Amino acid sequence: MTDIAVETTKQTMPAAAAPLEKTPLEIYVPPAQPSLVGLSRAELADCLGEVGVPPAQRRMRVQQLWHWIYVRGAQSFDAMSNVSKELRARLAERYTLARPEVVVEQVSSDGTRKWLLRLPGEHPGERPHEVECVYIPETDRGTLCVSSQVGCTLTCAFCHTGTQRLVRNLTPGEIVGQVMIARDRLGDWNDRDTPSGGRLVTNIVMMGMGEPLYNFEAVRDALLIVADNEGIGISKRRITLSTSGVVPNIARTGAEIGVSLAISLHAVRDELRDVLVPINRKYPIAELLEACRTYPGVSNARRITFEYVMLKGVNDSLDDARQLVKLLKGIPAKINLIPFNPWPGTAYECSDWAQIEKFSEYVFNAGYSSPVRTPRGRDILAACGQLKSETERLSARERQALRAMAMTD
Ligand code: SAH
Ligand code: SF4
Repeated sequence: MTDIAVETTKQTMPAAAAPLEKTPLEIYVPPAQPSLVGLSRAELADCLGEVGVPPAQRRMRVQQLWHWIYVRGAQSFDAMSNVSKELRARLAERYTLARPEVVVEQVSSDGTRKWLLRLPGEHPGERPHEVECVYIPETDRGTLCVSSQVGCTLTCAFCHTGTQRLVRNLTPGEIVGQVMIARDRLGDWNDRDTPSGGRLVTNIVMMGMGEPLYNFEAVRDALLIVADNEGIGISKRRITLSTSGVVPNIARTGAEIGVSLAISLHAVRDELRDVLVPINRKYPIAELLEACRTYPGVSNARRITFEYVMLKGVNDSLDDARQLVKLLKGIPAKINLIPFNPWPGTAYECSDWAQIEKFSEYVFNAGYSSPVRTPRGRDILAACGQLKSETERLSARERQALRAMAMTD
C-alpha cells in the first residue's frame, strides 16, 4: 500500500469553525432520452403506457422489464428476448438503460476498486457532475460504498468531500446505477434464470460522497429498489446508511427504508463536535442520541454503528473513550473506530496505532464490539473521507485521455 504524501501544517485543534453548510445547487437537467434505471414499478408502468402498451398488459410487462434490468443487468432492450421485437424498438426510441458513465477505473494494490462516474446534466462550460463509488472485496463479503450527492453541502473538518464546492443531489437512478456499474464491471450479474450464490457485491454502505439524509427521497427510493428481492435483492440488513446526524430524518430512515443505521459521532463533547461535524450546532449530541434510542427496529440484534474517526491529540484520549461508553449507555450499539485517512492539505493526523489499540481495548472491555476499520484503497484515495472528484483539477485534455483509458479497459 502506497501511502500518499500529505502536506501537513501541524495543528491538533482546528482553528475557526467552518460554515455549517454550503448552498445546495439543485441543478439536475434530465437527459433528453431518460434511463429506466431507478424507476419504481408504477413509473415503469407509466413509461410503458407512453409507448402504447394497453393498461391490462402493463403489470406483466413491468415484471419482465424489472427482471431484465435488475436480475440480468440488461444494457440494451435487444437483450430482452421474451419482449416482442416491436415493443423493444418502441422502448429504445424513447428510453435507455443507461447507467452513469465510467470515466476512470482505478484498482488499488489491495484489490479495492474505485470508479469515477460522470452524471448527465452539466451546462456548457460548467464543471462536470461526478461522483466516486468504491468496491472493497473481503474474504467473506464484498462491500460497495455508494455516493448520494455530488460533493456535500456539509463541511466536516476532517473530510475531503466536504471541501468540494459543486453540489447536487443524485437521482434514484444515479444511486441504483452505481450498484449496476459495480455488477457490470465485476461481471456480477445473474446471467441465467437460476438463483445464484457467490455474489461479489453482497453489502452496500451509503458512505460515499454526500449526506444521504439531505437527499432522503432519492436515497429511499433507490435503496428500496436495491433491496427488492425480485431484483438486485441485497437484504436490508446488509445495507447501511451513514449520517452525520440529520436528526429529523433518522426516524424516517427506520420507518420508510428499514436499513441499518450508522452515525458519524467522532466526538463526545458538543464543543468539539461543533467543530469536527458542524451539523452538531443544529442537532447536538443529546438530540442525536435520543433519535438513536428510538430508531425504529433498533434492538440488540440490530445495533446502531457509531463511527469514530481517530484524530491524533484531538479526540483519542482514554477520557474520550470513557465518555463515549457513558454516552452510549442504553443504546444497542457497535463502535467502529476509523483511522483518519489523510488527504492533501489536511491539518489532521491519524492517531498513533498504540493509542488506537488502547482506545479500542477500553471500549471493548466496556462490552462493545469495537473493530478498527482497516483503511482500504488508500493508494488510490478511495478510503473513507478521501473521495473527491480528483479530476476536478485536471485539464480538459488530461480528462479526455483518462476517459479514453477507461473505455479501452
Ligand atoms: N456523509 C455521511 C456518509 C459519508 S462519510 C456521513 O458523514 O456519515 C462516511 C464516513 O467516513 C463518515 O463516518 C465520515 O465521518 C468518515 N470520514 C470522513 N472523512 C474521513 C477521513 N478523512 N478519514 C476517515 N474517515 C472519514
Ligand atoms: Fe459530508 Fe459526511 Fe464528509 Fe461530513 S463526513 S462533509 S457529512 S460526506
